[in-house]
Amino acid sequence: MVRNYRGRFAPSPTGPLHQGSLVAALASWLDARAHCGKWLIRIENIDPPREQRGAAAEQIALLARLGMTSDEPILYQSSRSAAYEAALQQLGAAGRTFRCNCTRRLLTSDPADALAGAYPGTCRSREVPPPAATRFLVRPGPVGFTDRACGWFAQNVEQTLGDFVVQRADGLWAYQLAVIVDDAFQAITDVVRGADLLDNTPRQMLLQQALGLPTPRYLHLPVVRDAAGRKLSKQTRARPLDGKNAVGELEQAWSHLGFEPTGAGSIEDFQQLAISAWRRRWCQSEAVRSESAALQARE
Ligand code: GLU
Repeated sequence: MVRNYRGRFAPSPTGPLHQGSLVAALASWLDARAHCGKWLIRIENIDPPREQRGAAAEQIALLARLGMTSDEPILYQSSRSAAYEAALQQLGAAGRTFRCNCTRRLLTSDPADALAGAYPGTCRSREVPPPAATRFLVRPGPVGFTDRACGWFAQNVEQTLGDFVVQRADGLWAYQLAVIVDDAFQAITDVVRGADLLDNTPRQMLLQQALGLPTPRYLHLPVVRDAAGRKLSKQTRARPLDGKNAVGELEQAWSHLGFEPTGAGSIEDFQQLAISAWRRRWCQSEAVRSESAALQARE
């Protein structure tokens, strides 16, 4: 068991929760409960133009209706600019950032660009006046980690993406920077989220390493797709949840997570049954490992 387990669900308030977001919420909640840990809600509202008024409050209310409430006061990323600014300063002082005013067109117009899609480093050694985006300077070499579900995952960020943006030209903070600053601030030990974010993790690890922050364990779970195979999202008009049939909605998310129906009659029953099943699937191997380590230590 992870000591002092701390997990989180970190929705962006761009619309109401749907089955896809509920799967991530439920998985992170179950993993925290299965580890007897803490579960936190963090509202990732760093992008006001994409935000929908009232969405955060609705998300929080729906989660509560489904039996999930934050164990600590909810953190709003809109209140965290000073921390992101401090991280940016630290990266700058370490020579890991530079200003960039390349437009998207300029970056993709060179067909001879062998790095197709990766930022070619155009502004690395240029004097660019503000306002401009700030990029993180990525060093060559792969970065990898062992995901609890997907196993070993490695990416050569320099070759596939290149230097990535940590603050946009309009001053808005990039998700990659904000998420790792807050995961560290909230002492998150375990991140459980959709597999659509798996290939964001190496970038987050590079930032953690550059800032001297710990890397949590990661568990990326398959995302929910619609009949056409598209990830459920507001863009694909995923049906918002209302929590009126709470157990039914939970059971549906539960089946997306690959489990047989619990057949529970109440939220409390569902939680109990789901926590033990989750523990058997996702915590057993850890328990076995730590038990055998304890046995070995005794011998
Ligand atoms: N805010 C992100 C989203 O809604 C998730 C961040 C995360 O779990 O790391 O897609």
